[in-house]
Amino acid sequence: MKNFKEIFRGAENKITGIAAAPGIVIDNVYLFTKEKLEISDGLITDVEEAKRNLREALSNSKKELTKIFSLAKEKMDPARAGIFEAQLMILDDPILIGNIEKRIETEKKLPEFIVNDEISKYQQMMIDSHEPYLKERAHDIEDIKHRIIRNLQKKRWVSKIPNNAIVVSDSLTPADTILLSRSNVQGFVTDHGGLTSHAAIISRSLNIPAVVGTHNATSKIHDGDLIIVDGFHGYVLYKPTEEQIKFFREKHEKLLRIQKELEEFVEKPAVTMDGKKIHICANVDVTGEIDLVITSGAKGIGLYRTEQILEELGDFPDEDEQTKIYSNLATRIYPEWLTIRAFDIGGDKFKFFDYQEPNPFLGLRGMRLLLENVNLFKTQIRAVLRASTTKNIQFMLPMVTSIIEIRKSLEIIEECKKELRREKIGFDNNMRIGIMVEVPSAAVMAKEFSEEIDFLSIGTNDLIQYLMAVDRGNDLVSDLYQEFSPAVIRTIDHIIKEAKKAKKDVSICGEMAADTLAIPLLVGLGLESLSMAPTTISYAKKIIRYISYKDAKELAKECLGFTTEKEVTHRIEKFFREHNIRRTRNII
Ligand code: PEP
Ligand code: MG
Repeated sequence: MKNFKEIFRGAENKITGIAAAPGIVIDNVYLFTKEKLEISDGLITDVEEAKRNLREALSNSKKELTKIFSLAKEKMDPARAGIFEAQLMILDDPILIGNIEKRIETEKKLPEFIVNDEISKYQQMMIDSHEPYLKERAHDIEDIKHRIIRNLQKKRWVSKIPNNAIVVSDSLTPADTILLSRSNVQGFVTDHGGLTSHAAIISRSLNIPAVVGTHNATSKIHDGDLIIVDGFHGYVLYKPTEEQIKFFREKHEKLLRIQKELEEFVEKPAVTMDGKKIHICANVDVTGEIDLVITSGAKGIGLYRTEQILEELGDFPDEDEQTKIYSNLATRIYPEWLTIRAFDIGGDKFKFFDYQEPNPFLGLRGMRLLLENVNLFKTQIRAVLRASTTKNIQFMLPMVTSIIEIRKSLEIIEECKKELRREKIGFDNNMRIGIMVEVPSAAVMAKEFSEEIDFLSIGTNDLIQYLMAVDRGNDLVSDLYQEFSPAVIRTIDHIIKEAKKAKKDVSICGEMAADTLAIPLLVGLGLESLSMAPTTISYAKKIIRYISYKDAKELAKECLGFTTEKEVTHRIEKFFREHNIRRTRNII
């Protein structure tokens, strides 16, 4: 049977996009096109009637949005559902409404024209600001503007679509995504939007496969067409051939079978055949994932990427809002641990500050940025401390490159504790502080760094990038991004040994932990704690339960002696065959 590469290679019916939410789906399309609004600038004769129409349209828009807001609260966590609350506030904005009414009185033009003009002015201001988060909000406002105008024109609100369809659209607003998901949508494909667009984030939270940023899907795909969406690789196949349908049906069935098979491992502990216990935690990117974490059999959260909150909200939440988010997660995961990582801003991640860097990965990123913006850092520390009264929170520093950064951070944390004491606000005085080891300097200095803090977590995503000098997001050099490079595994070995010398806990939270092929090696190298995407946890448990610690140690020892990546990979593959373990890598 062909593999994915072979199936996609040369396929002329392939549309390439961004893999926004994983999964495979084969189904019929519902082409979601938004009616283009025709806006008339005609004159009115009755000002009072026009104002009455405006009020009625505002009130109907409010009703619609309230319904969406309550649906969103049911399906998503409160922070993300807040997008709709913000839209509702616009409908109540006295300055905006006042301006519109005044212009109706003086210009005597149809309300739809004035609404369009006034709200567009707001939007333009946001777009001109050049702030990515304000630009994103400008898009949300488009939704509100359309809603009011549609209600002024007394047009129907299309929110019901056929059940079980794949929605293909130019773009989707958060409201569209939530509303459409009620019709048991099987997948989303959008011409516009990136990995962090709201539609993508919501798809991931709702577990609906999605490919976004396809540019031309709406022009190539028609309503009712059968298509295949591969949310793992970011491809859409339209007018699929018999061979493609058969290939993906089999993949899909296999996926379901594996998920079913793995269910039995959810509740089982991750213990090797000779009794070595491994702690398996979950990585959390969006707070909505917490339900998935709880049902995944994870023993706590090993990495909560808080910068994702900024991606979702497009702004920095204040101390109270952050406290609420962290407390919520800590309570849900209690009595297990929640590891909150300080905002890792910069690099290819959330950009808040308007500065250009020739090489952002080597620029003001992670810890460096936080120490340059102490108020921002302090707000987060205070929120984390305030949430820590549940005593199951630990705090982790990203992209640490020198011991000075650790010391400075610890001083700031102490300062925040003092402030809270003065303000008589409770917190966990013994909250553990850890660091990510994700740059070579931190790896080399692992022992000395360990002595300053309580725990370490190896971030292989960046560690490999910086160690091998390979951009983790660059396709051209992706072959050189090798987690099984001897340089990588020897570095991991060094970090583990040094941390253990300092008697500090060490774990791993990079994607390597989720690569099931790497698990025996990581266990053999001495890692007792692995943190990974919730969906891979049961498979990781299965592997751990199939191997012995003794064999894993032997495997690690052998691999540390190799000089090429190929030798390491082949040895590990042989190990899997010897232990009769099937690998998901071959399946998906
Ligand atoms: C890592 O670098 O391995 C890591 C977990 O951090 P992120 O992927 O968020 O950069
Ligand atoms: Mg990282």
